[in-house]
Amino acid sequence: MAKLIVSKFGGTSMGDAECMLRSAEVAFRQNSSMVVVSATSGTTNDLIALGTKAEKGNWSECEALLVKMQERHRKIASDLNSSVDSNKKLESLFEEMHSLAKGVQLLRDCSVKAMDALMSLGERMSSVLFTEAMATVLKNHGSLKTAQLLDAREVLKTDDAFGKAKPLTAVVATHCQRHLPQIRDMKTVIVTQGYIGSTEEGMTTTLGRGGSDYSAAILAEGIAADILEIWTDVAGIATTDPRLCPKAKPIPEISFKEASELATFGAKILHPATLLPAIRKNIPVFVGSSFDAEAKGTWVRKEVDQHPLIRAMALRKKQILVTLSTPEMLHAHGFLFQIFKIFNDHKVSIDAITTSEISVSVTLDNSELLNKKLISDLSEIADVQVEENLCLVSLIGNNINHTSGLGKDIFDTIADINVRMICLGASKHNFCFLVSEEQGAETIQRLHKKFVEA
Ligand code: ADP
Ligand code: ASP
Ligand code: MG
Repeated sequence: MAKLIVSKFGGTSMGDAECMLRSAEVAFRQNSSMVVVSATSGTTNDLIALGTKAEKGNWSECEALLVKMQERHRKIASDLNSSVDSNKKLESLFEEMHSLAKGVQLLRDCSVKAMDALMSLGERMSSVLFTEAMATVLKNHGSLKTAQLLDAREVLKTDDAFGKAKPLTAVVATHCQRHLPQIRDMKTVIVTQGYIGSTEEGMTTTLGRGGSDYSAAILAEGIAADILEIWTDVAGIATTDPRLCPKAKPIPEISFKEASELATFGAKILHPATLLPAIRKNIPVFVGSSFDAEAKGTWVRKEVDQHPLIRAMALRKKQILVTLSTPEMLHAHGFLFQIFKIFNDHKVSIDAITTSEISVSVTLDNSELLNKKLISDLSEIADVQVEENLCLVSLIGNNINHTSGLGKDIFDTIADINVRMICLGASKHNFCFLVSEEQGAETIQRLHKKFVEA
């Protein structure tokens, strides 16, 4: 039986008609049954700007953004020779975009719920266009398959945490069976949106920025796919972000555990949650470039042949260090529980943590600190000190916590750089530490030279 493949294409792979046709060619050659697409490059940012400006009442700037987005999508439609039906769908999405922005402007209120409704338009517009591109490619190859547009909100059910909704995996699987009984018949290519979902009551949600990778993984799990493919603008996962280190090397294969650490600790190539469904259902993940589909790319699998000490490194920017100190912690119990409870109540996730006898330091993403109430709640139980402008450097590999001399080698390489906090021991796959934001790139470049290029 042919393998069931889900292919996801990111924003740059949706950049214009040429990119869409190239991506559709890839999907055709891969024999994909389901294609999950991101918004066209830049559109999600434009939609966020639209919501923000509308809330401020800045209507002329909103109009300029509306026109810009309409022109972008109309141009692609015209270059693709889009059908009357698709053009109508597109125009009705433009109207929805206009009405939502007007509503936000009148109310001077862009709630996270309203922002999700606005942002969903990016993927909804691109998926209409990609269905056209897919149909063209199928036709050009004389294929008997048809391209069929699916509204992801019919199957990708989530909780109501607007802006960062959590997929309800069991419900998604049931909806996939109900709405996609034909998925294994190999007669259709389903085109659907990444990033968006809906609550069981039908309210539109989004999974958080960069969430299309995660959508594709959730849908792959929902339809019990054999392979998940993430097609982007680089030929697979590299030893570090090639934008940071031009000498970054492609990684042919990497384990689920290492790739999860890499994604969680800042490698933008994969949304941090992408591998969770793949791990649950043991679905191998391929990462490749839609611009260079022949390049080898990276396989992410449960088992891999090589287990190098250092496979890759990542930089997670905009980190803050929150240090909580109180003498009450001395010989007392329950203090860490209280701290974690407060973070939990505020739904704030902690990345790294270290403790001493009377203090605890945790790292958070900058954006989490917008939550002023969190700091005031923490201040009730301890002195709170906040340090900003930091970044988390992570080295990812194998047996990291059982290798003597590794710490020395790392810190000798960056002896003149101040290290603010170190986390080692919890994972055999990760060694991470904090340095100042300005020294992050330099730190990675030196470590890459020492451990990868050498
Ligand atoms: P898409 O729009 O396709 O989802 P993203 O911009 O989200 O693409 O992710 C691809 C980018 O991730 C690459 O252009 C690259 O700069 C960045 N990146 C970060 N870390 C890595 C890494 N280790 N390997 C490859 N790319 C990386
Ligand atoms: N379009 C969304 C974003 O820009 C989701 C994605 O591309 O993965 O964040
Ligand atoms: Mg992405």
